[in-house]
Amino acid sequence: MKFQADKDAIVIGAGLTGSLLSMYLAQEGLNVSIFELRPDLRKVDLPAGRSINMALSHRGISALQKVGLFEQIKKDLIPMKGRCIHLKGQDSLHQAYGVDKDHVIYSISRGLLNKILLEASEKFPNIEKKFQYRCQWMNYETNMLFVEDLDHGREHSFHPNTVLATDGAFSAIRKSMIRQTRFSFSQQYIEYGYKEITIPAQNGAHVLDPHALHIWPREQYMLIALPNVDGSFTCTLFLPYKGEHSFQKLNTVEDCKVFFDQEFPDLQEYAYDMAQQYVDHPIGDLLTLSSHPWNISGQSMLLGDAAHCMLPFFGQGMNAAFEDCVLLHKELEKHDFDFSKAYSEFWPQRKKDTDAISKMALDNFSEMRSRVRNPDFHKRKAIEHHLERIYPELYQSLYSKVSFSLQPYHKILDQELHQTMLIDQILEKNIDCSSPSTQLESMLRNIRKS
Ligand SMILES: Cc1cc2nc3c(=O)[nH]c(=O)nc-3n(C[C@H](O)[C@H](O)[C@H](O)COP(=O)(O)OP(=O)(O)OC[C@H]3O[C@@H](n4cnc5c(N)ncnc54)[C@H](O)[C@@H]3O)c2cc1C
Repeated sequence: MKFQADKDAIVIGAGLTGSLLSMYLAQEGLNVSIFELRPDLRKVDLPAGRSINMALSHRGISALQKVGLFEQIKKDLIPMKGRCIHLKGQDSLHQAYGVDKDHVIYSISRGLLNKILLEASEKFPNIEKKFQYRCQWMNYETNMLFVEDLDHGREHSFHPNTVLATDGAFSAIRKSMIRQTRFSFSQQYIEYGYKEITIPAQNGAHVLDPHALHIWPREQYMLIALPNVDGSFTCTLFLPYKGEHSFQKLNTVEDCKVFFDQEFPDLQEYAYDMAQQYVDHPIGDLLTLSSHPWNISGQSMLLGDAAHCMLPFFGQGMNAAFEDCVLLHKELEKHDFDFSKAYSEFWPQRKKDTDAISKMALDNFSEMRSRVRNPDFHKRKAIEHHLERIYPELYQSLYSKVSFSLQPYHKILDQELHQTMLIDQILEKNIDCSSPSTQLESMLRNIRKS
């Protein structure tokens, strides 16, 4: 065993957060050891149905740029300019994400992004990665970390300088932290789960617009599809566990084929294959979790999903986790790598933001599966687009602020009530927003003051 007890930092989990975080630490000259439960992703195939796609937006991009990685991954990204909404029996509806040409989000497979991050970390000789090592627990009284080498069935213990837990929603370190006094933790599953389904390329080309995030909103459930560079789409079907169209009811290929035929008529051609994949693929659960605090002195710190797993409906879990890395790094620099001070100052502020985006992610679920079907929703979006175009310095929609800015999430949520009331007033008074007016400008200035 090569790992030394006096390594500067131990990172648990080489997922998206852990791989990126290790580079932020290593570029400061820290020696970093990573323990990852799974085999090296670069050497094995992902199991079928586990290939979700990520929407990468400004916060994630900015974090990747800081370690010089964004340019490197550009060729693997597909820009998505807006939503394409597929209503039953109607033409599909395109809705741009923003008014600026740069207001695009990017599609990339989670597995591929993780591989790229792992590969990029190779250029740091001070990062050492151990795969198929399972973190078991941490004893805070003796400051001992216990890790199992799954290949050889051996247990190792360390006396770490600090442990950064990026081991996801079911974090082993968080389980040990829960045993400490005054550690609060909550997790809420929603009544929905998801399955991954692929729509293949046709002669190497995409069968739907490749520059959109496709949504089939069906009120009680929904299907979404994100493009891949090879011409395929990765779809995610979000279904309730119980009810008319649910995981409980849909079990056989035949039933699923009828369901896909009827509910997604524009995908009829793929219905049989989709039904087969549906039956073969596992159900993923969806949950929000919250921890308080995120650290135990300088001994350990939670980051990414381990600290704040959220629902995927704003496409921000990874983006927020990447932003965690940037902000924690800043705090560490500020405190000259005094881990205890930096951790204690970092998380209370950051938690306000991750609580806010977790709430917005939950709210966005009903927007995606239901509200987008409502004509009133499109009127409101049209007004927002006018305002963003005419008064870019006075108005930015919630979506733009979350996805195309670095404004703290909690501030965005605080302002949202005022912005909603403004659109209500514009609709009530039937104010023309297609061109500038003193009335509009003064209303916008008033909400900026509030
Ligand atoms: C359906 C779905 C769609 C999503 N879409 C988006 C999106 O569009 N945009 C976005 O920003 N986010 C999205 N997310 C959220 C995003 O996937 C997560 O926020 C992100 O993966 C969190 O990364 P992480 O590294 O913190 O955790 P994880 O990705 O869970 O990685 C944790 C790592 O730790 C390892 N590990 C676990 N336990 C141990 C242990 N005991 N010892 C050692 N290693 C361990 C795991 O093997 C894993 O490699 C989506 C999530 C879902 C479920």
